[in-house]
Amino acid sequence: MYPTNFDYQKAHSVDEALSAMAANPDLKVIAGGHSLLPAMKLRLAQPPALLDVFGIEEMKGIREEGDVFVVGAMTTHAQILRSQLSLFPEVAGYVGDPMVRNRGTIGGSLAHADPSADYPAAALALGVEFVIRGMEGERVVPADEMFLGMFESAVQPGELLTHLRVPRNVQASAYEKFKHPASHYAIVGIALARHADGQIRAAYTGAGEKAARLTRLEERLNAGQPAGTGLVESADLLGDRFASPEYRAHLVDVLAARGAARV
Ligand SMILES: Cc1cc2nc3c(=O)[nH]c(=O)nc-3n(C[C@H](O)[C@H](O)[C@H](O)COP(=O)(O)OP(=O)(O)OC[C@H]3O[C@@H](n4cnc5c(N)ncnc54)[C@H](O)[C@@H]3O)c2cc1C
Repeated sequence: MYPTNFDYQKAHSVDEALSAMAANPDLKVIAGGHSLLPAMKLRLAQPPALLDVFGIEEMKGIREEGDVFVVGAMTTHAQILRSQLSLFPEVAGYVGDPMVRNRGTIGGSLAHADPSADYPAAALALGVEFVIRGMEGERVVPADEMFLGMFESAVQPGELLTHLRVPRNVQASAYEKFKHPASHYAIVGIALARHADGQIRAAYTGAGEKAARLTRLEERLNAGQPAGTGLVESADLLGDRFASPEYRAHLVDVLAARGAARV
């Protein structure tokens, strides 16, 4: 299907984008377009006007700053794949296909908060901080407060996710994914990171309404115990024609054990 008609404009700086959004609340941000355009073609989304932020240079690239990497939200999956970041490159390798990876962005994915997307679990495991800018200024949101629900992140209308702060001193990390055979999205994805202090953080995606920490797994691994089973309650998980909640809970256990063996 074709999208409904829409206006289109391009922003060349964060300030310009924020001013444009303040002047016209109907403007919908478009980054790589690889989640938004499919939704528009299916007419699940019908924004009257798009604001293209993909070309904003200050929101691109990766630089070192003290003990973090500062990652521009408009950095593509392909650039993440080739980067020196912890965990995210492995995750990027699982995202879609080369076309998706060359155009889709890490910021677009994380702002979108698709419950089956790969990066949210990694962001939680890494303890990423999200730099979000609006007309009122800048705020920094910890990973644990970023994913609010299905397709709902902490980024509010009129705001832009500009950067991520990703810890540099991660000792080991792993991403294990059971992917949908057609869409390649995660039916379940498990991310783990052993941080500089030796503590492991872990999270899942795909299984529930939003990505979430695997606290039971973290407690066991940080106490020197095996991953074990029963890491999540199936009552808290999603079921569909691809996988029941019980099967997703089983996948969480299996993939968590695989990931735990790598960190
Ligand atoms: C065939 C196909 C397969 C895919 N497979 C996978 C997969 O296996 N795993 C996976 O995780 N993803 C997958 N994706 C999704 C892909 O990773 C998208 O690129 C990503 O989810 C969205 O990033 P984007 O830059 O394309 O954002 P867009 O589609 O442009 O935007 C998505 C949403 O985020 C908002 N937004 C974007 N950037 C910002 C920002 N900086 N600040 C505030 N709001 C913003 C937009 O307004 C929109 O609501 C797939 C997509 C396709 C088409």
